[in-house]
Amino acid sequence: MPARNILVINCGSSSIKFALVNEAHSQFTLSGLAERLGSPDAVLHWQRGGEKDSLMLPGGDHRAALHQLLPLVQGAAGGKLHGIGHRVVHGGEQFTAACRIDAHSLQAIRATAPLAPLHNPANLQGIEAALKLFPNLTQVAVFDTAFHQSLPEHAYRYAVPEHLYRDHGVRRYGFHGTSHRYVSHRAAEMAGLATGDSSWLSAHLGNGSSTCAIVDGQSRDTSMGLTPLEGLVMGTRSGDVDPNLHGHLARTLGWSLEQIDAMLNKDSGLLGLSGLSNDMRSLEQAREQGHPGATLAIEVFCYRLAKSLASMSCALPQLDGLIFTGGIGENSPLIRSKTVSHLKLFNLALDKEANARCIRGVAGAIQAHGHPRVLVVPTNEERQIALDTLALLTA
Ligand code: AMP
Repeated sequence: MPARNILVINCGSSSIKFALVNEAHSQFTLSGLAERLGSPDAVLHWQRGGEKDSLMLPGGDHRAALHQLLPLVQGAAGGKLHGIGHRVVHGGEQFTAACRIDAHSLQAIRATAPLAPLHNPANLQGIEAALKLFPNLTQVAVFDTAFHQSLPEHAYRYAVPEHLYRDHGVRRYGFHGTSHRYVSHRAAEMAGLATGDSSWLSAHLGNGSSTCAIVDGQSRDTSMGLTPLEGLVMGTRSGDVDPNLHGHLARTLGWSLEQIDAMLNKDSGLLGLSGLSNDMRSLEQAREQGHPGATLAIEVFCYRLAKSLASMSCALPQLDGLIFTGGIGENSPLIRSKTVSHLKLFNLALDKEANARCIRGVAGAIQAHGHPRVLVVPTNEERQIALDTLALLTA
């Protein structure tokens, strides 16, 4: 059978990220981004081989962008596109794995929208546009939350009245599941262990960040919760704060719920702590020049990350390795070494040279000789979504 081609689509409210994945090649055949959709400045950027190009789509929506994409995809796939994989942020308790998109699953994804009001409606827009443009292709939804549906109840329940869980779905769901799943499989391969018989701590560190405890190929705990705000310090998200902060700010400053939500999601995290930037690269440069806010933001980020990893260890029977991934995890020797320095009780220590070498897509083991395994594993959510789509095509 010739190698198959899968188009992977990740729709935001005004953007579409896409990649054409061929099962036989590690590089994407075509990839790109449509952004500012629905505005006069809507634009489609793409890259094929070494060539980059773009096209203005004034006023264009998701459907217009996908329509423009169609001949590009067909050209790059040699007219042989086998399926489409859609990233969907929230699958609630309904979805424990990827699924084929049909009327039934579409309805279930719609019903989950109240749990992810910013993300799921945008994901649905992309799915609906793609169904109209490619009615005869198998289309698959891959959920960020599905991998974490294996969490035991003691890890996913909040200590709030039971009816909030039963009637309103208030529980921990977790996100970044596609990435944690992909890197834990890769880590097992790199270590020569079986995925189904190994235990990992994973730190996905990007603009959004989360940790995960993975045992025998299943997520057993993770730092994000009902929403992607819980847990670690992120680019602009606070991560954990005292839950009474909402009430405190409302009472003392008269802030509305919308103001508090916006502050915690958009003005906090690395940006809020540093007063400078949400971007770790900029913060590392500013720290070099003695910027106190950048220095503090990095210290808090690493300490809180280490604390989260230590708490995740409660879910593991043993530790086969710690995995760093995501833009920061894959590229920042500083963050990796500061984080590991807080985990001395786990006997973790890094090899300086190996840590420095693993950047810009270079994977590898970075622990010091005789210490527990620490791996840098570049994530590839698009490939995982394509693999899930291929598995359902074959099934
Ligand atoms: P992601 O959301 O996975 O694309 O990751 C974005 C984050 O990775 C941003 O905070 C970037 O500053 C960070 N990042 C990318 N490259 C580097 C680098 N060389 N050093 C430190 N942080 C980096």
